[in-house]
Amino acid sequence: MGLLTCGHDAPGYGPPLCAHLRAADGRPPVHTIRWTGAGTAADRLCGACAQLVADGAAVATGVVCEACFDDADGDCTGVVGAPEVRERPVGLDRTVRATALPEDPVPVVDLAGLPGPGTVWLLLHEDGRLVRWDSEGGGRREVARARVAPDAAAEPWAGHVQRRRLHTSPDGRFAAVVIDHGSTGEVLDLTTGARTMTLDGGTYHAETVPFALAFTEYRGRPVVIHRTDWNRLDASDPETGRLLTAREFEPAAPGERPAHDLDFFHGALHVSTEGEYIADDGWFWSPEGVCTTWSLPAWLGSDVHESEDGQSLATAAQASYHWNRPVVWLDDRRVAIGGLGDDDERMAPGVRIVDAGRSEPTGSGSRSAVGAVEFGGPDGPLFAADGLLFSAGPDGLDVWDPSDGARLGRVPGFRPVHHHRPAGELVRIDGGRLLRWRTPGPAAGRRRTGAGPR
Ligand SMILES: [Zn+2]
Ligand SMILES: [Zn+2]
Repeated sequence: MGLLTCGHDAPGYGPPLCAHLRAADGRPPVHTIRWTGAGTAADRLCGACAQLVADGAAVATGVVCEACFDDADGDCTGVVGAPEVRERPVGLDRTVRATALPEDPVPVVDLAGLPGPGTVWLLLHEDGRLVRWDSEGGGRREVARARVAPDAAAEPWAGHVQRRRLHTSPDGRFAAVVIDHGSTGEVLDLTTGARTMTLDGGTYHAETVPFALAFTEYRGRPVVIHRTDWNRLDASDPETGRLLTAREFEPAAPGERPAHDLDFFHGALHVSTEGEYIADDGWFWSPEGVCTTWSLPAWLGSDVHESEDGQSLATAAQASYHWNRPVVWLDDRRVAIGGLGDDDERMAPGVRIVDAGRSEPTGSGSRSAVGAVEFGGPDGPLFAADGLLFSAGPDGLDVWDPSDGARLGRVPGFRPVHHHRPAGELVRIDGGRLLRWRTPGPAAGRRRTGAGPR
């Protein structure tokens, strides 16, 4: 081990610093974060050095020891540069097809893909009607009617307006309509049109999160996971409404905080491809956004408190004031979480990919993901299919190889918001039309260098 830039013979600590920050000596100046452009590496510059970089000059930085780093650790006031984006273009079919939606005086506010055959969608109209629609054959049929509605008097929170949101079970039999950033919802049996459950998510800061709900399957049966309070998730049988996660929170002594009681606002839920894990994109005070993962078989099969403090519960990503992030599962273990950085005001385009089955204890008694892979570039909502990652950014759709972070191609101007997994289509509604793009098969990501798997 050689001497660090600070002159001490010690392990390096934190991102590299410019010479002026290194000289701060306990009077830390503000700093600018610089993405160096080499992978996802970042260092820290003083204001003068940040200006030099902005003018095109090169500025050197160096690693210091923990004590010297703490001496120089002031507030961040800006960001320059961006993480590296690697390009490895392959031939992609960029054809975006347009199919007319069924004529209806009431607009479609959400849709969800139903299992095959064909490319069948469930359309949710603004008046609550749920319509099954074959986008190839054109046939349509009203199958249920939802009654929950946004609270028109609710003030939007940070730009998030209450809106209806549609979820469907993997087998296509059940739908849930919930009010995102609100507190109500319901579950409907699409074979009978009957309402099988009414959902109450509680109102405590419900405006800060989409209504936490996800369908999965466990031991061959559909299961609906849903919030029943700001800090409580439950699982129920969507056919009967039977509660599968009954549990009580009893204080050990009067006045004490009950065991397992969670200080966490559950947010958007994302279930892995085969239902092995779930990701929960919520927050806790101060506010700090945290995306956690845990094992669904453990929760539904052995420990009813798995969602609060189970063995498999781990932090996948964390950033101040930042949640409601793009999240998608690549498979049954790896989840991609959008945004690089640790603060809402300083997030850079990119993803962090975490293996939900690999975590280690932290000092505070919780667990944290290990071996996360990060790369720059992906921006906006994320989708995954056939081993590829897709991001719908401001300029259009980008296609990524998540194994090495290379961008394989783009579909300019196309910004899908829904994924029909069984049919392999990414879509968005554009007026009275559905814009559709077929995801490429698994061969698209295969490298063309001749170097096969080792
Ligand atoms: Zn400097
Ligand atoms: Zn030092």
